[in-house]
Formats: sequence, C-alpha cells, structure tokens
Amino acid sequence: MSQQFIPLSVPNFSGNEKQYVNEAVISEWVSTGGSKVSEFEEKIAEYTHMPRAVACNSGTSGLHLAMLMAGVGRGDEVLAPALTFIAAVNPIRYAGAEPVFIGCGESLCLCPALAGEWLAANTEQRDGKCVNRHTGAHVKALLAVHVFGNMANMPGLVELCRKYGLVLIEDSTEALGTYYTEGPYRGKMAGTIGDIGVYSFNGNKIITTGAGGMVVSNHADWLERAKHLSTQAKADELQFVHDEVGYNYRLTNLQAALGLAQLEQLEGFIAHKNEMYDFYKERLDGKNGYRILPFRDGVRSNKWFYSLYLEDARHTRDGVIAALKAQNIQTRPVWALIHEQADYGRNETYGLAMAEDFRAKIVNLPCSTNLTREDAQRVVDALLAL
Ligand SMILES: *Cc1c(COP(=O)(O)O)cnc(C)c1O
Repeated sequence: MSQQFIPLSVPNFSGNEKQYVNEAVISEWVSTGGSKVSEFEEKIAEYTHMPRAVACNSGTSGLHLAMLMAGVGRGDEVLAPALTFIAAVNPIRYAGAEPVFIGCGESLCLCPALAGEWLAANTEQRDGKCVNRHTGAHVKALLAVHVFGNMANMPGLVELCRKYGLVLIEDSTEALGTYYTEGPYRGKMAGTIGDIGVYSFNGNKIITTGAGGMVVSNHADWLERAKHLSTQAKADELQFVHDEVGYNYRLTNLQAALGLAQLEQLEGFIAHKNEMYDFYKERLDGKNGYRILPFRDGVRSNKWFYSLYLEDARHTRDGVIAALKAQNIQTRPVWALIHEQADYGRNETYGLAMAEDFRAKIVNLPCSTNLTREDAQRVVDALLAL
C-alpha cells in the first residue's frame, strides 16, 4: 500500500479564515471596495512597523508597482539576482528596463561584494547618475530577494546603494516576519530597510490570500502613487478621468478577509517552521553527504523553505527528488537561474559560480505549517536510506 502523500508546502486554514471570508460574502463587499482591504493594510503596516502599506493582487504586481515607484523606466538597468523566482525579475522588463544579473553569497541572496565589484568596474557617475559605461544606461535600482525567508546582507546592500545612488527594492515575498535581532538594523523587518519592500500572499507563501501582495515604503509620496496606479490611476471617480496609464492591481475584500485570519496565525506558523527546521537539521546535517543550509545569524528568520544541500557526489539533485517521489514525498529543486530562461540570455551576468552550485545541489524539503513530526521523520528516514 502506498504511503500518504507529504506535500512540499500547503496552506493552513485552521484559524478564523472561514468566518472572515463568510463575513465578506454576507456583506456583499467581495471586490476591491470594502473595509477588510484597508484593515489588512493597517495590520500589515503595524506588524512590519511601517507607517503605511498598500495592498495589491499579487507579489508580482507589487514588484511592478515598486519599479514604477522607483522611477525605473525604458532603457534603465537594475541589478538583480539570477538565483530567484522569475517573478522577481520580470517586473524590471514590464517597466521597460533590463536586469544585470549578480551572483549570490552563502545566504543564497544577492551578494553586495559582487555587486560592488561590478559597479566599480562598469559604471561612472554622470550628472549625479550611476551610468553603465558600456551601454550608457542609467543603473537606477538594485533588487534584493530574501531567498527562502533568509535575510539578505542589508547593511552591505544599503551602504552600496547609498554610495552609487541606487534605489534599494526588497523582494520580501518569501520573508514576511523575518527581522534582525542584532546589529544596526535590530528589530527591523525584511522589506522595511531599503526604499521599498514587497510581500506576497500566494498559496505557497507563509501566509496566503489565494493570491495577493503588499507594498511598504517610508516614501509616503511613492506609496500614494502605488495606490493610485493600482486602482486604474483614477483622477476623478465620478467623471472617469484617469491621469496616467494605471492598472487593475488592487486586492479584493474576499482576499483581505483571508489575509486577516492568516495574519493572526503568522507567529504560530513561524514558530512551527523554526521547530521543524531544527528537527531536520538535528537528524540530517552532516549525515550521509547532506547539509541543511543555515539561516543568517543575528536574525529571527521565518524559515519559509528548508534547503537540503547535497555536499558530495553520493547524491544527485534529481536522483534525490525522484527517490522521495517514489515514496510519495514531494520535494523540489531551486529555480533554474534567470539568465538561462527564455529572453534573458543576452543580459549581462557577474559572479554566478555560487548560484550555479546552489542550483545544482539544493533540494527543498516539505515545510508546510501543519507538517507533523511523524511525517518529517518519514522524510528523514527516506533520505538516510539513500
Ligand atoms: C512568490 C514570489 C514572487 C511573486 O509573488 P506572487 O504573489 O506569486 O506574484 C516574487 N518573487 C519571489 C522571490 C517569490 O518567491
């Protein structure tokens, strides 16, 4: 008899989800109007210690809004990681700009030292702008991704962006709840340290609204513009006058209802993620050619995804994935690097050796917030038997 399926990551609706969604349905406020959207915005702003948050209908649309807020436009360039989900990078193209792919450090996140080397070798300041000497393009922003909930090296990135005059955008879609517990940014959440932060509430993220996102920033005027752009850039509601090309990017009241209930559960989810991370680490790290990759010290990470790293030639990524699948256990490789994806092959790259190594050797293990110790033990036993 085949064993029960252990999924990689599924949502957990054990709180007030049904009640709040029901309230939204009963009120008939199911679309982008309704009080739950602004309530959800306020609750996320409060949770992240930010003055304001603007809701949108996906992390991807949030990142597109972030590019527009940063003034990224046609012909500009943006430094971005190659080791990430493609939705982090596509919004650079939506804005008419081009990514320059920079490698990662041990944290899996974009490495400030590598970005610094590329900037020093390839750019110069012209009229207060950072210009790529070879293409003539204005290098306007740097997009950092907090991969799998691990904090990027924010002191390094902030210093670099100040030095070169770049807008620092944080893709925090995987890192809601991650914050520094030490150092200059003690108490600061991922997504709130650079100029703009974006969260996602897609189905596999740490909390979900089915689909949804949120943008935070300390630039009040930029956030106001994000809200304006996300709601069709209406200048006069009654007369249907629109003062720029806007988008239908607003979150709905139904989604916000789900989000409010999920947010109540977030700290519990993070505690569970941390507990199960320790469970895997104790049993697998240093055994059988395996490492469980660490999260950054001095940070309370949400530990969204766990990375099993295949240290030597005993195991291959695809071999491990197939062996676990045969036992009804779902795992996955890390993303194919973005410069290898359709339409990004001609973009400039720098320092991708470590990203290539991680791409070849990481397998993500089951990490649902309702994963039981029994199920995790089954994953461990299956891996140790290989
Ligand atoms: C999930 C994710 C996104 C996109 O968020 P959606 O809500 O799915 O649009 C962007 N970047 C990264 C790194 C992600 O993991």
